[in-house]
Amino acid sequence: MSKLDSKTPEGPIKDKWTKHKNDINLVNPANKRHIDIIVIGTGLAGGAAAASLAEMGYKVKAFAYQDSPRRAHSIAAQGGINAAKNYQNDGDSTYRLFYDTVKGGDYRAREANVYRLAEVSGNIIDQCVAQGVPFARDYGGLLDNRSFGGVLVSRTFYAKGQTGQQLLLGAYSAMNRQIGKGKITMYNRHEMMDVVLVDGKARGIIARNMITGEIEKHSAHAVVIASGGYGNVFFLSTNAMGSNASAAWKIHKKGAYFANPCYTQIHPTCIPRAGDFQSKLTLMSESLRNDGRIWVPKNMDDVMAIREGKKSPTELTEDERDYYLERRYPAFGNLVPRDVASRAAKERCDAGYGVNATGEAVYLDFKSAINRYGNEKAHVLGIHNPNDAKILELGEGVIEEKYGNLFQMYEKIIDENPYKTPMMIYPAVHYTMGGIWCDYNLMTTIPGCYAAGEANFSDHGANRLGASALMQGLADGYFVLPYTIGDYLADDIRTGTISTDLPEFNAAAKEVTDTLQKLIDIKGTKSVDYFHKKLGEVMWNKVGMSRNAKGLTEAMAEIKQIREDFWKDVRIPGGMNELNPELEKAGRVADFLELGELFAKDALEREESCGGHFREESVEEDGLQKGEAKRNDKDYAYVAAWEYKGAPADAVMHKEELEFKDIELKQRSYK
Ligand SMILES: Cc1cc2nc3c(=O)[nH]c(=O)nc-3n(C[C@H](O)[C@H](O)[C@H](O)COP(=O)(O)OP(=O)(O)OC[C@H]3O[C@@H](n4cnc5c(N)ncnc54)[C@H](O)[C@@H]3O)c2cc1C
Repeated sequence: MSKLDSKTPEGPIKDKWTKHKNDINLVNPANKRHIDIIVIGTGLAGGAAAASLAEMGYKVKAFAYQDSPRRAHSIAAQGGINAAKNYQNDGDSTYRLFYDTVKGGDYRAREANVYRLAEVSGNIIDQCVAQGVPFARDYGGLLDNRSFGGVLVSRTFYAKGQTGQQLLLGAYSAMNRQIGKGKITMYNRHEMMDVVLVDGKARGIIARNMITGEIEKHSAHAVVIASGGYGNVFFLSTNAMGSNASAAWKIHKKGAYFANPCYTQIHPTCIPRAGDFQSKLTLMSESLRNDGRIWVPKNMDDVMAIREGKKSPTELTEDERDYYLERRYPAFGNLVPRDVASRAAKERCDAGYGVNATGEAVYLDFKSAINRYGNEKAHVLGIHNPNDAKILELGEGVIEEKYGNLFQMYEKIIDENPYKTPMMIYPAVHYTMGGIWCDYNLMTTIPGCYAAGEANFSDHGANRLGASALMQGLADGYFVLPYTIGDYLADDIRTGTISTDLPEFNAAAKEVTDTLQKLIDIKGTKSVDYFHKKLGEVMWNKVGMSRNAKGLTEAMAEIKQIREDFWKDVRIPGGMNELNPELEKAGRVADFLELGELFAKDALEREESCGGHFREESVEEDGLQKGEAKRNDKDYAYVAAWEYKGAPADAVMHKEELEFKDIELKQRSYK
């Protein structure tokens, strides 16, 4: 029997969640007061979970490495959050959101989880509105929606280009209410260093006070990991600089299976890399694809002239432009899912049509939208026969209202006015669909240890649709975990407080201290970033969008070598018992250096093109256009959940076969 039991409830898909909620164990309010829960992370997933669990009566201890929950990486989310409210009356429904998500993820997600996500999506919006989240509204006062990739409806709720920030302020207020009541104890500037297992169950954590360096022991009856994604394994990504895999990796090493590590989302609209000394990439929100058209020149002469600065893109006529997404995918056009758009951009650039000096950029052009909106606005204002200058002025005004902060950000970074010259964009690492494997209850393979938000292997299969991460994080935190965790904790009502004097806590604390000391004692010659960057180069070149067996095998060996060099030659200034950002970074990079190898192993194992990645061998074999993925082969529809066996290379894979009972497996097409 497989060691993986998804615990998916029986019955028709639309009834599963309701039935499950009716069937599972409950903890009565008086007993909740005697139960402690640790939540690692106060982004949207952790913040929502901590607030809800405390509101229900549990005693919560919340941990974050930032100085405030408000600074979690979730604050960066720009474009919006999906929900099947059908406010636009454009045919949306729970089923459609479910269908789009499963199809968008290349049929690599667990159907029942995705259906539940779609089902609770509407509640999330109501909850956030009640918290005072200032979603954009239309003329009639109803909440407004826009479209994101991979769908034919408008279901994305947004707060200008700051949706994540506004949602996080909502979750933070809900948390603060409970912090004020003493139901949540907030541990800012604390980093979880390990999980503590007692009799095989998660019973606490070891944390480091990042200000004093003190190693602390904290106990609980259950531990929730909501520590975000691991895109920074690539060094360059759109993630916050601090985003890391350590909490997830530590529980993996203690028995939690790690699922689909190689599924990364490569976002198509990011500001291209400028040079070798860059440490961060910047996202241009997908919402821009509502109005921006993506193109490269049709003729190589124009490409060269533009690269050499002899020609401006604005000089090219419509006939001289290749709107390649509109050409290849007429039904979805510029709003194909991210993976499709990214692969198509790479395909054009690999063919030599990239428009910047490095040949790694395509255009995102707002000229048509500016014209369209300018004419519309002139009409509204009763200006008959407006001249071109007036149309431009009015159109730019509308674009500014919609995307002003993003345009400003672009101009500050690139020093070019995107209202006048098309933006240059290129795919970049953005999100990780892989993560800690969990069952329908969000419990990992460690009893009592849960995973929520981007940290779990999530409901997005091989590719997440835009605006669905916020939805999933908040669904997990507000609407799933608060129900499912009680099923497990019902057995703990008589356990009483878990002592941190147990030998398991002391052994884990000693191990953490010894590892930190070992890092400090290396006293080598190279900075932590030196190794991180080297890892990132291998990851992007051999484990990134385009992969082949030879490259992946080499990558595994190279990562192992970088890891060995790191442990011999890293230099960490300062000591352990003080604020030491370099030491923090070293611990995280040490974990990335292990995760990276498992990532490559997973990619090697999956001989498929899927999501943002294409396997060069299979592209040829299947007669697909370069950059197209093989979609619906049922043989491949599985979750690879890796069990740690002493080293990443020795990890053993357990397969969770995916069944598509409620969704027709169609050749995935966006044409
Ligand atoms: C630039 C950008 C824009 C985006 N825009 C959108 C969008 O418009 N719509 C959308 O749906 N998604 C968007 N996403 C994705 C989305 O923002 C994230 O997937 C989501 O916010 C992750 O939330 P989370 O709660 O899971 O994790 P995070 O917000 O990353 O929070 C992680 C938390 O864990 C804590 N933590 C981590 N490790 C430890 C540790 N060891 N010890 C203690 N604490 C720890 C951190 O302190 C933090 O509080 C965007 C992502 C990026 C990068």
